[in-house]
Amino acid sequence: MTDPTEPGDFTEPGDPTNPADLVITGCTALVHDPHGDIGFLDNATLVIRDGAIVTVTQGNAATPPPPTTELIHADGQLALPGLINCHTHAPMVALRGLAEDLPIEQWFNARIWPVESNLTDRDIELGALLACAEMISAGVTAFADTYFAMDQVAAAVRHSGLRANLGQAYFSSQGPEGRERSLDFALRQRGAANGRITTSLAPHAPYTVDDADLTATADLAREHGLPVHIHAAENKDQTASSVARHGVTPIEILHRTGLLDVDVLIAHGTGITDQDLAVLRQGSGRIGVATAPKGYLKFAWDTTPVRALSAIGIPVGLATDGAASNNTLDVWESMTLTALTQKAAEHDPTWMTARQALRHATTESARAIGLSEAIGALAPGRRADLILVDLTGPHTQPIHDLAATLVLSARSADVRTTIVDGKVLMRDRRLHTLDVPEIAAELTARLPALTDRSHGRRVQHYDT
Ligand SMILES: [Zn+2]
Repeated sequence: MTDPTEPGDFTEPGDPTNPADLVITGCTALVHDPHGDIGFLDNATLVIRDGAIVTVTQGNAATPPPPTTELIHADGQLALPGLINCHTHAPMVALRGLAEDLPIEQWFNARIWPVESNLTDRDIELGALLACAEMISAGVTAFADTYFAMDQVAAAVRHSGLRANLGQAYFSSQGPEGRERSLDFALRQRGAANGRITTSLAPHAPYTVDDADLTATADLAREHGLPVHIHAAENKDQTASSVARHGVTPIEILHRTGLLDVDVLIAHGTGITDQDLAVLRQGSGRIGVATAPKGYLKFAWDTTPVRALSAIGIPVGLATDGAASNNTLDVWESMTLTALTQKAAEHDPTWMTARQALRHATTESARAIGLSEAIGALAPGRRADLILVDLTGPHTQPIHDLAATLVLSARSADVRTTIVDGKVLMRDRRLHTLDVPEIAAELTARLPALTDRSHGRRVQHYDT
């Protein structure tokens, strides 16, 4: 399929004195109705100006597109909102495949946390750059991330052109400085990269951050208008151990420390109990949950109770977690796995239809990370974060049900073009902002020093 770009020289029926920056014609656009349900608009034209979507209309050959700097003929392609990775640790791509076939305790204590004690700022920046390249290639336009040395991740976001919500992770073992660094990062980087960077406070988890620190974090979130991004109730064992040690579940810890009364993004929640659902309903903050099903399958965990959370109005967004547990940052794969594992978990083939899965991949993910006003839908006023997908491959033809084709047949390699804030970051699978061979070569040369565990140190000890 040809996909030429050419300057527009059309006579615009509307406002010829205010040309667009980018016009995309001839595609089928995934749109949402006023109830948030998924629909498809054939022969759509999207007009983008100043990084935002101005109009999404159904065109025909008699209506020429407006004058524009860049025109993409996307005939035969599908436009959908860019995918959102609601919970990851981008630099962990450096540890992809390092710790396999292990229970979580050994995964952390024997492999991941010893290696993470070697990380340098350059390792983190190279990992983040490689992760950004992987996400752009997979049609991901925004991600929520917590890790160490987040200034390096912010630099990668700025360079790559992606959008991100970033939080500097901390443990109580670091003393008050951990929390202070997290606040300092969040205040310094908020609004950076022309507004593409938003920030969060990022206590690691209730089992590594004590109640006093969590309460102080909730106070800081309220004082500075910052959201909080935290791992909690990651699996059923953590919930059981929290009840045995403290008499409360991890979700009840978030409640009693005030974190459910500020804007909070909870990673995983596969250990959320029925009793926790009632606790979550009492929270007065904007609560979102991120689900990353591939890692749960690998660790032999249950999955996030998406149906129960949706029933109480909590948005569940799609995620990959870090590549050390998930092996890819492929949110398309998370969408497919969420559709499949949710059916299995509920023993119900009628639950988590392809359209429901697409809703989680779009508007629900945007809500989960607190950006529902800005992204998650192809609609006037939203930022122009979108992808173009080629469905002409043999694995996606013929098409009876476009939603089913997208969720169950298509894959991230079918994404041809990735656009963030109206800027083209990948066109016909060629990356415009990042050089993968160069990044991968420098990172690979650093692996012997990075993976050395002979020192016996760890950044933490996993003991819930
Ligand atoms: Zn995580």
